[in-house]
Amino acid sequence: MPKSINYMDVGLNHSLAIRGQVYDNHPLAPLTTWKIGGSAQVLAVPRDLDDLFEVFRQAQTYEWPLFFLGRGSNLLIADRGLPGITLHLAPTFKELKLEGDRLRVGAGVSLPRLAHYLAVQGVAGFEFLAGIPGTVGAAVRLNAGTGPGQEIGAHLRQVTLVTPRLQLVTLTAAELNLSYRHSRLLNFPHWLVVAAEFYLDETAPPEKIQARISELLRQRQAKSPVNSSNCGSVFKNPPGGRPAGWLIEQAGLKGLRYGDAQVSAHHANFIINLGNATAAQVKALIAHIQETVGKLFGVTLEREIVILPDDILAPALTPAIK
Ligand SMILES: Cc1cc2nc3c(=O)[nH]c(=O)nc-3n(C[C@H](O)[C@H](O)[C@H](O)COP(=O)(O)OP(=O)(O)OC[C@H]3O[C@@H](n4cnc5c(N)ncnc54)[C@H](O)[C@@H]3O)c2cc1C
Repeated sequence: MPKSINYMDVGLNHSLAIRGQVYDNHPLAPLTTWKIGGSAQVLAVPRDLDDLFEVFRQAQTYEWPLFFLGRGSNLLIADRGLPGITLHLAPTFKELKLEGDRLRVGAGVSLPRLAHYLAVQGVAGFEFLAGIPGTVGAAVRLNAGTGPGQEIGAHLRQVTLVTPRLQLVTLTAAELNLSYRHSRLLNFPHWLVVAAEFYLDETAPPEKIQARISELLRQRQAKSPVNSSNCGSVFKNPPGGRPAGWLIEQAGLKGLRYGDAQVSAHHANFIINLGNATAAQVKALIAHIQETVGKLFGVTLEREIVILPDDILAPALTPAIK
């Protein structure tokens, strides 16, 4: 069980002093695709790597909880918001450096941007990323993808991380133990991906790659509730069995509503926000789905989405690294 968290604001006796932007009591819902959740006690947008280290250093010195936010497309943020510092990487860390058959990408680059950038360069194999609305950093953490062989890890050479010990560490793809929606980083919630390097080994004419992207996006739009606020698939597909969406649909849960949180009638593995859904409603719906599917099929549905702050066992940075 996650350690309970004191939701009272952490006593920030010192202000966070960095060169980048710092916002007190900043609403987080608009920074997520679900449009749900309270405010960050402090939202920090570091200007560069040195500035990022400064956030880590001060969080460690003053024992402030530290959370990471990319594009918020795989996150449920508590209605009461997040205590301490929320580090927002998407606005910065936008490097895209192509050298021969290697590409270095900043963690804040969005996956659609990466796919389109490579299409223009005539590099194939990354088209599947165009429909995943997250950042490179978070995608590596979860080995995001759209199917076997179509996962970000398939092209990954190495990642650069900042660790809570304030070290810059490089891990190869092999060292990340990548598999379906899994990497070793899931066990280290305070390791922050700052950049990733990819192998580029397939080429094709840019217009062909672009046409493939358009076709993949068309197929995805037909399969998912595109015009709603959602977070993509809520659950991972259970190993070796039926997909999570099929199980939820067979359990008769399509369309089920808790307040404004509803199991999509379009795709049962999506929960949509009809307007004013709260994190509490989404959590209750998730628990209901897990219980019903468990009882009917004997299958434990594991969440793919992250719930903050619940999923971070020890939010204060210092104890978390011991
Ligand atoms: C419409 C829709 C479709 C989707 N389709 C897919 C799909 O086909 N396949 C798929 O895999 N996913 C899919 N997703 C889910 C999501 O886009 C991916 O999981 C994506 O990789 C999340 O990136 P993010 O930047 O939004 O992460 P966030 O939601 O901001 O964060 C997710 C987690 O990663 C952590 N994190 C963020 N940045 C970093 C970093 N730099 N280093 C370490 N940890 C970090 C956060 O703390 C959090 O725990 C979909 C989502 C939506 C809304």
